Amino acid sequence: MNNKKIYDFLIVGSGLYGSIMAHELSKNGYKVLVIEKRDHIGGNIYTKKMNNIDVHVYGAHIFHTSNEKVWNYLNSFIKFNNFINSPLAFYKGKYYHMPFNMNTFNEIWGVKTKEEAIRKIEEEKSKENIKEIKNLEDQAISLVGRTIYEYLIKGYTEKQWGKKCNELPSFIIKRLPLRFEYNNNYFNDIYQGIPLGGYTKLIEELLKNVEVKLNEDFLKKRDYYKNIANFIIYSGPIDEYYDYKLGKLEYRSLKFELEKINQEFYQRNCVINYTDTTPSYTRIIEHKYFENDKSDVTYITKEYPVQYKEGMERYYPLNDEKNNLLYEKYKDEAKNEANILFSGRLGRYKYYDMDDVCELAFNDLKLFNIDI
Ligand code: UDP
Repeated sequence: MNNKKIYDFLIVGSGLYGSIMAHELSKNGYKVLVIEKRDHIGGNIYTKKMNNIDVHVYGAHIFHTSNEKVWNYLNSFIKFNNFINSPLAFYKGKYYHMPFNMNTFNEIWGVKTKEEAIRKIEEEKSKENIKEIKNLEDQAISLVGRTIYEYLIKGYTEKQWGKKCNELPSFIIKRLPLRFEYNNNYFNDIYQGIPLGGYTKLIEELLKNVEVKLNEDFLKKRDYYKNIANFIIYSGPIDEYYDYKLGKLEYRSLKFELEKINQEFYQRNCVINYTDTTPSYTRIIEHKYFENDKSDVTYITKEYPVQYKEGMERYYPLNDEKNNLLYEKYKDEAKNEANILFSGRLGRYKYYDMDDVCELAFNDLKLFNIDI
């Protein structure tokens, strides 16, 4: 790369994606600057220590993957504990186990064996006559029948996405495992856990030898920033970069209500989903469970899904046809740029898990001849 400019790479955004890119590029001898709009590193995986508890400030992040490369890579920076996500659902005064497994079927129908559970689901399905899966409702009922759909899926999903289940794409629910065993592990992956000491520590390790500037908004100084680096890796929203000239990509946002409670524990489980239409929050998480933190007090977060408006945080891209098409138009626009790569969750407008983000970074690094 030519050396006319101060930096070889400017990385916009210090989330997991930007931090891996920054780490690897600087390890390979490039001069790298990371700028971050917020007053802290880490993007949405940022954790903050409060009374010795690592609080997941932007919602629960539970790492899980079946990708050995990703797992070994992250473990070379930080050790993970053996936290297993096993949320409970609360519906009309009763708790149910998640994801859908023999415990759930037993709680709902009193059945004890796989055969009995399958028979129950088939019985419910046969009353519905679904020939083709057109939306999330069809998908859910075909998977677990109407009772579970109504107890554990409908209310939660409609609060989460602000739309009726029969207007939502079916892929959303495909994230949830269905098992005919007594196993409450929410994920099917081989590896799972929480970084010991919090996600912020992982990001700090990644950025240890990298220059980082906080409270810096690229879009407010774009001419300046374009002039100081040969290449820009932009992990912010692609539509905002182009001043929304083709239209706005839609998101679902969240409002978090963090409460400190002066008692050792608040609830019986780390994550409790509220699957009825009320209350309006979808879940309460109790942070100290993530790392088994010891403290006389506890912190909980109530999570309220809200419609995204400008100025809010973007959480879930609404990957429906209309928005995906708009994203493709921005992507075409980006092809005209010689020295900028749009990537990460916001740059690619995709509902990524954390391990997907790592894989994405590994793939993007190949563009610069770096092989992880
Ligand atoms: N879901 C549900 N009931 C629950 C939890 C999840 O119906 O108790 C559905 C809902 O449609 C949600 C999807 O499963 O949008 C994915 O949920 P998950 O918890 O995997 O997503 P996250 O919000 O943690 O990314």
